[in-house]
Amino acid sequence: MCVLDGRIVDALPTDAPRLDAHVMVVMPGGIDIHAHIAGSSVNHARRILSDERTADPAAAPALRDAVPRSGSGGTVPSTFTTGYRYAGLGYTTVFDAAVAPVSARDTHAQLDDTPIIDAGFFALMGNDAYLLQQVAAGERDRARDYTAWLLGATGAYAIKIVNPGGVELWKRNIRTVKSIDDTSGVPGATPRAIMETLADAAATLALPHPVHIHCNNLGLPGNVSTTLDSMRALSGRRAHFAHAQFHAYAGGNGKPWASGAKQLIAYINAHDEVSIDVGQVMLGHATTVTADGAVEYLLHASSGRRWVNVDVELETGCGIVPYEYRDAAAVASLQWVVGLELFLLSEDPWRVVLSTDHPNGGAFTSYPELIRLLMDRAYRDDRLKGVNQKLLAGSALADGLAREYTLREIAIITRAGPARQLGLANKGHLGAGADADITIYARDANIAAMFSTPRYVIKAGELVVEEGQLRRAPPSRRLYVRPPYDDAVMRDLSAWFERYATIALANYPVAPPRDAPVPVGAGA
Ligand SMILES: [Zn+2]
Repeated sequence: MCVLDGRIVDALPTDAPRLDAHVMVVMPGGIDIHAHIAGSSVNHARRILSDERTADPAAAPALRDAVPRSGSGGTVPSTFTTGYRYAGLGYTTVFDAAVAPVSARDTHAQLDDTPIIDAGFFALMGNDAYLLQQVAAGERDRARDYTAWLLGATGAYAIKIVNPGGVELWKRNIRTVKSIDDTSGVPGATPRAIMETLADAAATLALPHPVHIHCNNLGLPGNVSTTLDSMRALSGRRAHFAHAQFHAYAGGNGKPWASGAKQLIAYINAHDEVSIDVGQVMLGHATTVTADGAVEYLLHASSGRRWVNVDVELETGCGIVPYEYRDAAAVASLQWVVGLELFLLSEDPWRVVLSTDHPNGGAFTSYPELIRLLMDRAYRDDRLKGVNQKLLAGSALADGLAREYTLREIAIITRAGPARQLGLANKGHLGAGADADITIYARDANIAAMFSTPRYVIKAGELVVEEGQLRRAPPSRRLYVRPPYDDAVMRDLSAWFERYATIALANYPVAPPRDAPVPVGAGA
């Protein structure tokens, strides 16, 4: 494999320096399609996790190219430590999945302080007051133009929907949208209409990533029917459904919780236009961070843990509750099983990709353990015996799933698949023209050990991890889009801002990132 000027090329002069990766495992750099690493919600989480910071101080690494920075770890590491630890696992690209547009400036500042990993974020739009008005009025063209303006103004990469219409309703003290045809926070803007409008906007604008959806009713028993209704509502349209594990429960209405993974994955397997990231729950500590404030209220009420809830004016909400998934707990054990079932029953690794919804289901530092669960049946079955069995009757995993992921399949669900879903043509592969983001692992019978300490990591052609040690921390690239729109939307939007927002429209857009935008449009 030949590397020149940050790219993989076909050939080099014979006297070029060499790195010997003989008998090692070589993959593209890891790509996280859905995590929470930068933004005001992440900072709120850091603020209430003082005990985690004390328990996991992160000393400054011995770097050769940059001023090293100390920090703190835990489930929500500080900015520099986030970059160092992702790179230390062989990950070189990460997306923050939920940023309120009004806090985009803060997110860019945090990403500027997160070295090594190329990063972007998805802008929250599923409860945006201006957008909901356009949906309710049937003004879908104006909604699309607003969407395009908002992506460019905030330097975002994709459209995110969280609990469509339900967060706006939560701000009025109504806790859930029961079905996708219920009245949401704005009459006429049903969850169905919001999802259709934004899925069509992403498609018409030819964004590299389709609409990215966190469905209604997250974490509730019986919610698999809502998830399937949402997928059917967008049938024939490209859509990515986030952390599907949290949306794949049967039961409810007086019946006990049960796995709905078989039903959900059967639909996904049969529909090429749908992709998901799993949002695996890992047993242990986590911190739930979401724009879905209503969910966090329920979690706080049931766990008694400290919490944050924020009303982000006109745009969205935000909630945080630190959490522990205990193997003695029936629901946590079911969630752990449901995620593994989605992975193990998936027929297309390109469309069912790895995430823990970091830090919601577990921190990204648990990925090596998750990979071991997927590749090592004996280990998985052993862990299964140790979890609470109460809600596992009839689950596919409890009945026995023999599948073991191959290294090739792991490379797809952690690299090539996310790159394809994100529309990143130069990432997730090692062909000529690809970004030279390369991770090299020494083989180890313990798969978790192998994936937790790559021998070498190369980022944009620079050797950042050498012999398992982080040695360089170059600045990262920002990934964002700047789609075109009809300027006519601005007159209406200016009047709206004047009337309702506490910020002047002229102060709202962020300075464009220094990198060029990722192109949009057919053939991009
Ligand atoms: Zn998330």
